Amino acid sequence: MPIFQRGVGDMVLLEPLSENSFIQNLKNRFDHDEIYTYIGTVVISINPYQSLPIYTADKVEEYRNRNFYELNPHIYALADEAYRSLRDQDKDQCILITGESGAGKTEASKLVMSYVAAVCGKGQEVNKVKEQLLQSNPVLEAFGNAKTVRNDNSSRFGKYMDIEFDFKGDPLGGVISNYLLEKSRVVKQPRGERNFHIFYQLLSGASDDLLKRLKLERDVSKYNYLSLDSAVVSDLDDGANFRIIMDAMKTVCFMDNEVQSVLELVAAVMKLGNIEFKSESRVNGFDESRVEDNNGLYTHHFTVIQEICELLGIEQIVLERAFSSRTLEAKQEKVSTTLNVAQAYYARDALAKNLYSRLFSWLVTRINESIKVHWLFSKKVMGVLDIYGFEIFENNSFEQFIINYCNEKLQQIFIDLTLHEEQEEYIREGIEWKNIEYFNNAVICDLIENNNKGILAMLDDECLRPGTVTDETFLDKLNTVCAGHHHFESRHCTNSQFLTDHTLPHNCFRIQHYAGKVLYCVEGFVDKNNDLLYRDLSQAMYKARHPLIKLLFPEGDPSKMNLKRPPTAGFQFRASVGTLMKNLQTKNPNYIRCIKPNDKKAARIFTETLVRHQVRYLGLMENVRVRRAGYAFRQLYKPCLERYKMLCQQTWPHWRGPAREGVEMLLNSLQVPKEEFCYGCSKIFIRNPKTLFALEKKRRE
Ligand code: ATP
Ligand code: MG
Repeated sequence: MPIFQRGVGDMVLLEPLSENSFIQNLKNRFDHDEIYTYIGTVVISINPYQSLPIYTADKVEEYRNRNFYELNPHIYALADEAYRSLRDQDKDQCILITGESGAGKTEASKLVMSYVAAVCGKGQEVNKVKEQLLQSNPVLEAFGNAKTVRNDNSSRFGKYMDIEFDFKGDPLGGVISNYLLEKSRVVKQPRGERNFHIFYQLLSGASDDLLKRLKLERDVSKYNYLSLDSAVVSDLDDGANFRIIMDAMKTVCFMDNEVQSVLELVAAVMKLGNIEFKSESRVNGFDESRVEDNNGLYTHHFTVIQEICELLGIEQIVLERAFSSRTLEAKQEKVSTTLNVAQAYYARDALAKNLYSRLFSWLVTRINESIKVHWLFSKKVMGVLDIYGFEIFENNSFEQFIINYCNEKLQQIFIDLTLHEEQEEYIREGIEWKNIEYFNNAVICDLIENNNKGILAMLDDECLRPGTVTDETFLDKLNTVCAGHHHFESRHCTNSQFLTDHTLPHNCFRIQHYAGKVLYCVEGFVDKNNDLLYRDLSQAMYKARHPLIKLLFPEGDPSKMNLKRPPTAGFQFRASVGTLMKNLQTKNPNYIRCIKPNDKKAARIFTETLVRHQVRYLGLMENVRVRRAGYAFRQLYKPCLERYKMLCQQTWPHWRGPAREGVEMLLNSLQVPKEEFCYGCSKIFIRNPKTLFALEKKRRE
């Protein structure tokens, strides 16, 4: 590994090592546009917030088939290493990208994918597969990303993509899994943020004719669900992006009528926000909501509800009824109650959120159909995980809770595989080892996901319990059950004197996450976890003539009336994260740890305190220490001998004795210094990457 004036490329080689020198080294490199730095095989990536000339075709060629430590640190080196071990050693890989919102995860995942696409096989069929895999990105980003205060293109859903290869290493296709879309954004956005990109892209980029067909007006200000204060994002060209997305949908094999259907739903969601309700007194003294007849406000003298019904192929009376009354079923009896105005607005928003998030899941399913591998033979798999980063806002709700839980799990798997597993391996292999302390966040994961006493389980208990359930009863429950947990704080913890914080608001609880303390307001937790849509609305949707809508609301089918209630949002999320973790554990992990250099989304600014905080919570210092105390490289004796036996007369072309002795013979004859390696029970451990690098060089010569 060459040591550059622009700082040290691998933190393992940094002298002296301290948190300060670590951060100085990052800064030094960042100031010279060196945004990548290694900790052994882990890549640290600092968001440059500017386009650097380091992703050219020449760069791809430079890194192709080269040894990891041979060149300047680069994300391409990691991608190359992962791809080659997949292709040549048959090891399934996963690329785990972590970091907070705006740190560059999504960009990193695209860089890895485009690198792999560039170096793997060519040919008409293969190129088509590659194009489809790559073009699925802009489609999902249009529907699942939005401008937030942290990031102009923030992923509001989690994504895991398995790319599948044949035995030669040519891509065959893939499978995408999506995790909980932040659907509350559809109806309301925090100040300074936008709704999902697609809404603005559609209004800005569609032709007049298309807008007319969708019964839309170009003016963003006409739509209540679209925030105005930040409708235009300086770096985003919504109109141009719309055309890119339309092309991408074609590449991913959406038919014209499917695209049209999707846009009709997007238009309908946007228009739902414009339905207004008024209160109408009834004889019995109750108020009942009525859809406001806002005739005249809209073009062509149609009311907005008429237009929505036309777009979706629903009888107007059916939808109106679903907004003004609700059928409850008790002991096989149906009772109809009227909705008041507030309930009608609630129902409207619930419908919009559900429509949109189901549309999003449908898009993923539809893309999967296109990229699916119709091949039953053994496949090699590379998984790429790009999930929403850790979030601490002023107001944190259920969504942040779920997102941060997911990040805890990822941190956990990082600890498991790099810190814990690394140390365990030394012990297993009988290598002398002094344990290095690190913070294990398993206890926080447990606080959230424990089957009996975890926060998610208690939320489910509340949601499924008969009687009056509110966010407050949920918080009461937490206060009883979690009191005393060292990572939980709230104002009214019973049984605990220490963790009762009188400065906390009444309706909040605080979790000490691995990445910092987050205060969650319980408002909306029960509702968001329940995720229920009035049955009248799902039935109205099911009755629609629109082919896609019908598909999205299967529970509206009257013949399926008695189905059990669907699992809660929290339960589903926990289950899918569990499956994901299991999947990741079967693969060889490759880590990209993304760091955000400043809060201004600006180039060339390196805010030390901010970086220090991330370095701490990402556990990067512990990572270097474990790595330094240990051995950078290890390999089973046999493959090691196979690879390097040509370098020694005694082992070439055949070594008849035990592999371990062969490796000993090899290293001795090459005069590798004794302190550079250590013999484990089944593997050889090499301390310094330079040693390996020298071996590789000799081999090539
Ligand atoms: P979130 O968790 O909010 O989805 P993220 O970690 O995925 O955040 P990105 O969307 O990847 O963050 O990055 C935010 C922005 O930073 C990008 O839109 C881009 O402008 C810039 N950026 C990130 N990485 C790079 C890079 N390698 N080169 C140039 N610009 C970058
Ligand atoms: Mg992202």
